[in-house]
Amino acid sequence: MIIILKPHMGDDQIEQVISSLKAYDVAFDVSKGTDITVIGLVGDTSSVDREKVQTHPFVERVMSVSEPFKKSNRKFHPENTVVSVAGRQIGGKQLAIIAGPCSVETEQQICSIAEDVKKSGAMFLRGGAFKPRTSPYAFQGLEAEGLELLKIARTQTGLPIVTEIMSPKYVERFDTDVDVIQIGARNMQNFDLLKELGKTKKPILLKRGLANTIEEWLMSAEYIMAGGNTNVILCERGIRTFETYTRNTLDLSAIPAIKRLSHLPIIVDPSHATGSSMMVEPLAKAAVAAGADGLIIEVHNDPSCALCDGPQSIEPKAFERIMTQLRAYAELEGRTL
Ligand code: PEP
Ligand code: MN
Repeated sequence: MIIILKPHMGDDQIEQVISSLKAYDVAFDVSKGTDITVIGLVGDTSSVDREKVQTHPFVERVMSVSEPFKKSNRKFHPENTVVSVAGRQIGGKQLAIIAGPCSVETEQQICSIAEDVKKSGAMFLRGGAFKPRTSPYAFQGLEAEGLELLKIARTQTGLPIVTEIMSPKYVERFDTDVDVIQIGARNMQNFDLLKELGKTKKPILLKRGLANTIEEWLMSAEYIMAGGNTNVILCERGIRTFETYTRNTLDLSAIPAIKRLSHLPIIVDPSHATGSSMMVEPLAKAAVAAGADGLIIEVHNDPSCALCDGPQSIEPKAFERIMTQLRAYAELEGRTL
């Protein structure tokens, strides 16, 4: 249930409305806009006397929310959330472009790719240190050493780093070392991990699971937000369908759907969505045209020798070209790059 207050209510008046509801076993989520404040009632609202609430002198309107996600729900929070990371913003007018290799391999590799993508206008550097591989015999990432190499690349270029966490035991370390913590598709429903990350204030890039619905995805965001961390960025990275030509099927419709349902920013990963370097450019353009707040793109200096995801990785030159071409698409959408 959400309570929309009359315009221009001050803290005192908001508090009075909340006090009048204290008898109910619910939590309160207050969202203050420029003119209007919205109070979200989280929990079992079946016992709340809606008509009585409606008659409160400071209340404009009471609405029921049937969706199970509350804190990520746009009805509770009509304005877009903009997540700040090291002086940059995700979800604002400027598109957030994250680029870098699937995995960190060597200091030279990560630093040279970081320099290249920075020159082309990337705002963040990505690189996997802990890799979720289907096979236990495949390269698992450089792990802790990979994090150290990412930090070196950050110092050299000034680009904030985005990297994937796989286990709750590393939350403290990632909280200190990393700028944006990525939750990969395979861990979207690792609820213990989500709860631990909810206790931090770190921006979390939450990828959509391989076969998860939009509602399940938003419920995973809810796990993080329920713990007190509202810095969540969603990432559509393709879902499993019957099609085998591509690695996954990019669900572009998730962008307007999320924009309608939620206030959280959403970015798109055209690399994992297709598994094919030649599809990165058209789908990056399509994502921007559909309203995405940014992109995460795999870039490798030598894709044929990449230790992970070479076939979908593009070379720095191709990334530079895509960035140049994307400018016009961004402009059409009223965004900058
Ligand atoms: C990745 O970003 O390298 C990755 C493993 O992505 P996903 O979780 O979307 O498969
Ligand atoms: Mn990858």
